Amino acid sequence: MVARVVPVEPFDLVVFGATGDLARRKLIPALYHRMQDGQMPEGARIIGAARSEMDDAGFRKLASVALEEFVGSAELDKLVRDRFLGRLGFVRLDATTDQGWERLHAALPDVPGRPRAFYLSVAPRFFGPIARHIADSGLRGPEARIVVEKPLGHDLASARALNAALSGAFDEAQIYRIDHYLGKETVQNLMALRFANALFEPLWNARHIDHVQITVAESVGIEGRGAYYDTVGAMRDMVQNHMLQLLCLTAMEPPARFEPGPVRDEKLKVLRALAPVNGLGAVVRGQYRSGNSQPSYAQEADNPQSRTESYIALKAEIGNWRWNGVPFYLRTGKRLRARMSEIAVQFKDVPHSIFPGEGGHPAPNVLAIRLQPDEGITLSMTIKDPGPGGMRLTGAELDMTFAETLGATSLRMPDAYERLVMDVIRGDQTLFMRGDEVEAAWAWIDPVIAEWEERSDRPRPYDIGSSGPEDALMLLHRDGRRWREIEA
Ligand code: NAD
Repeated sequence: MVARVVPVEPFDLVVFGATGDLARRKLIPALYHRMQDGQMPEGARIIGAARSEMDDAGFRKLASVALEEFVGSAELDKLVRDRFLGRLGFVRLDATTDQGWERLHAALPDVPGRPRAFYLSVAPRFFGPIARHIADSGLRGPEARIVVEKPLGHDLASARALNAALSGAFDEAQIYRIDHYLGKETVQNLMALRFANALFEPLWNARHIDHVQITVAESVGIEGRGAYYDTVGAMRDMVQNHMLQLLCLTAMEPPARFEPGPVRDEKLKVLRALAPVNGLGAVVRGQYRSGNSQPSYAQEADNPQSRTESYIALKAEIGNWRWNGVPFYLRTGKRLRARMSEIAVQFKDVPHSIFPGEGGHPAPNVLAIRLQPDEGITLSMTIKDPGPGGMRLTGAELDMTFAETLGATSLRMPDAYERLVMDVIRGDQTLFMRGDEVEAAWAWIDPVIAEWEERSDRPRPYDIGSSGPEDALMLLHRDGRRWREIEA
């Protein structure tokens, strides 16, 4: 099977912060791949904008080094690379002053109907000033759009302030808030699975589903991000955005159309239906301790007294007819046993087993939507153990690992940013968060954080390479359930 490429119109993409980590690691490689796959039309241009003392040639050099590092020299097609580098330009500009904006203006042709995207790959404190400067310097035409990424606020008040700053300069229809989890193939496949197949939707409710587990486990620690991460923690860094988005896509009602308005309306309804978290008993925070000559979280963060969580598990409940009584257990953490992300939908037990107990019991069906490492979907079933050994039951998995199912080894799985940047150019906001979604997520998160801050709650220690703190196991044991294994 060959991935179908739908070319986009010629465009201008301005990347603010083009010399930074996100641009080098994700955006430049993503754009290169889009050119390699034939999606970038003649005449499309990418303009890097940053404070650095640099010219076009310097930026092309930086991009070339980034491609060597993050695409890999073996994978790199030198002809495509050279064509790609030819599309790049650079404008030196300071987001906080008036300097450089007329140069940017001069670098952007005024062609009616030509999409013009401003990607803000800079710290959020620059979002407002950059948006205002774009508008003030006459660069915001009807085809302009602005792209921002987390952190979108630190709490509800700051998220509102950020939304106000953006909407002071751009219409909501021009604002693209990236959550790169929504660009993952599997996550979009969750919607295809639910809404393009008649099989699951009739079962997708409290009558048939026992509970849902959403796990985003990382094996790495906070690496060089300690100073930043220590002011944030797992709740703000992962739950407020990625995990709640995954919960929304799992739980939302079928939208009338796969379009930005209907899809985002349904996600928003889920966020607004989230019941307040039921006290600290429904939340377990953890922090990894040192072990095997590896530093603890507090050592890595260089803050011995840190109360920031590098792990969180919580029980979320959705107060509506479809989901009443079905817990959604979320957990995420660093330095865990393996890097593994999945949404696991566990169905209820059969109402009555007809098989003799010694042959084994039917295990509940689990639909697991795996985001990483190998994107794919599996459905665990109970089948008869093959052979003449009587009616004995065993587990088997229907496995749709995309790399295999899609014919694969030759088909590179595109990175989420590739899909999302091209959606920006196409003007499709379906996979981007609307301002009210971001605020609704904070409105649910804020009281939970306020409660642990009020009680000076300390995170529970857990071992590096484990599945998290013991208390997190208890969170499910108390409900007669257990977490799925964290394994790659
Ligand atoms: P970075 O510090 O590596 O890069 C920041 C960029 O902003 C640099 O190019 C710098 O020159 C530019 N810059 C700084 N001050 C400026 C100014 N006054 N005027 C113009 N340009 C200025 O940061 P990063 O890791 O690339 O992250 C950028 C944003 O993306 C942050 O908000 C970050 O939280 C977010 N983000 C990053 C990642 C990632 O993987 N790095 C992932 C998700 C979100």
